[in-house]
Amino acid sequence: MQKRIFQSIFFTTLAAVLIVGAFTARSFYGFFDARTAEELRSETESIARALERLPDAGEYLASLTGPHRVTLIAPDGTVVFDNQTPTDDMENHIARPEVSDALQTGSGMSYRYSRTLTQKILYHALRLGDGRVLRTAATQNSIIGMVHRVLFPLAAVILITALLALSLSRAFARRITDPIGKIDLASPLENDAYDELSPILLRLQDQNDTLRSQLAELKRQRQELTAISENMSEGLLMLNREGIVLAINKSAARIFSVDAQASIGRSVLTLNRSAELYKIVEAAQNGRDGEAELELNGHIYQLLSTPVSGESSPGIVVIMLDVTARRLAEKERREFSANVSHELRTPLTSIVGFSEIMSNGVARPEDLKRFAAKIHSEAQRLIALVNDIIQLSRLDEKAELPAFETVDLYELCESVLPRVQSAAQARNVTVSMTGEHVSIRGIPRLLDELTFNLLENAVKYNVPDGSVTVSVAPEETGAVLSVQDTGLGIPKEHQERIFERFYRVDKSHSRETGGTGLGLAIVKHVAAVHDAKITLRSQPGEGSTFTVTFPQKA
Ligand code: ADP
Repeated sequence: MQKRIFQSIFFTTLAAVLIVGAFTARSFYGFFDARTAEELRSETESIARALERLPDAGEYLASLTGPHRVTLIAPDGTVVFDNQTPTDDMENHIARPEVSDALQTGSGMSYRYSRTLTQKILYHALRLGDGRVLRTAATQNSIIGMVHRVLFPLAAVILITALLALSLSRAFARRITDPIGKIDLASPLENDAYDELSPILLRLQDQNDTLRSQLAELKRQRQELTAISENMSEGLLMLNREGIVLAINKSAARIFSVDAQASIGRSVLTLNRSAELYKIVEAAQNGRDGEAELELNGHIYQLLSTPVSGESSPGIVVIMLDVTARRLAEKERREFSANVSHELRTPLTSIVGFSEIMSNGVARPEDLKRFAAKIHSEAQRLIALVNDIIQLSRLDEKAELPAFETVDLYELCESVLPRVQSAAQARNVTVSMTGEHVSIRGIPRLLDELTFNLLENAVKYNVPDGSVTVSVAPEETGAVLSVQDTGLGIPKEHQERIFERFYRVDKSHSRETGGTGLGLAIVKHVAAVHDAKITLRSQPGEGSTFTVTFPQKA
């Protein structure tokens, strides 16, 4: 900046000085030139007049002491007299322009430059009456001579101009740049700067406002993104094209059991070295979507990778979904379908077998009744099985469930009791009830089913002369229903599995007693619908207690 100011001041001043100098010199020079010529003319004329009058021209001429050179030339060009140079050395002057002009026209004027061109010699010649020519010459500085003379002062002027320009440019630059340097960029309009800066300050303020709002918007978007990614249960990874982790959310760090911060900047394979992860990252690196399933710490994760195309930063996004429950449910459904077909086939095979024998007429008449009874009991089992399957399917389709009502749990159990009475009596098992009335919110039909299944099992898997006690009691916030029997008990290793569909501890015993293997699965389902918790305490040979805890009273 300072250099530019310096240059402009310096060159402008210099140009001004030179132009003014040149004009002045030119006009002065013209003026002096004209004066010198005039002087020379009048001097020539006065000398000529004197010469015409005086008899001894030589004496007169020698007496002249003026500054100018005086030469007298004969009509043939021979120099007769010269007051500065001996005439012998001088050549004939007939060819000199001023002399020849004077000889022809009476007077002549010309000028010539010295050898160095620094001096100009003006000549004026007059033809005298006797034919001779009188010539005077005056020497003066030529333009170049003048320039030569002013060279030193000119250099001094240039130097002074340079120094002046330097100090002025410094001062100007400081006056221009100091306020700029002191501008408070955070609040440009509060600066006290010169007027010319106002548009810049206004623009700065404008830019500041735009930047501020853009930053705020960016921050908001970032916070939104962080909030979403940090709170999502799915694992989220962002990688660059080389597979280096750029971002990892909390869930992903938990899935891989790594520290999120420490993982950033590392290769994705340091999180997990499995072939599945490698495969989906590689797919995305090749511009394809990748999908794989990864088993980790007892969970099944679905890994999905997508290449993110963008000119600025192409990369890869990996999402991890915990599909354990879905896969288990699928597995359960597959097993359930297989089990259903198997369970249905057994009674149907019996029915077909017995009915075939009966219809062929090969059965003895005394066996007919027994076969019919068998067909009947297998058909009953089929019905029970189909009912249970329908019930479970309904429970699976939660949308079809009726609305909750207030249910007195004690009354509900009391109404179920008579339905197991005949089975109990058949084995001499006593069934009794204790507790008090507690109302809960629930679906009566399902709660009836739950109680019946527990009671039926307590009778079915009891020992002769055993007992079953149903108790209903209020709890801190909810209610507890427990069914206790003095039956066979359930070995520890089976306790968790008996709630699975078609799981039976003793298959033949269950079939004998008309069990479907679905009772406890229905109980578990109904409890889940009511947010209730089931616990089992059982000892083989001592009996079992199933406790269902409902979280809320009505
Ligand atoms: P099932 O129709 O065979 O009774 P459940 O689902 O009701 O089917 O019960 C599953 C299995 O759990 C039964 O086959 C039985 O072996 C066992 N079980 C259920 N309740 C009792 C109980 N109260 N005492 C002993 N074992 C029981």
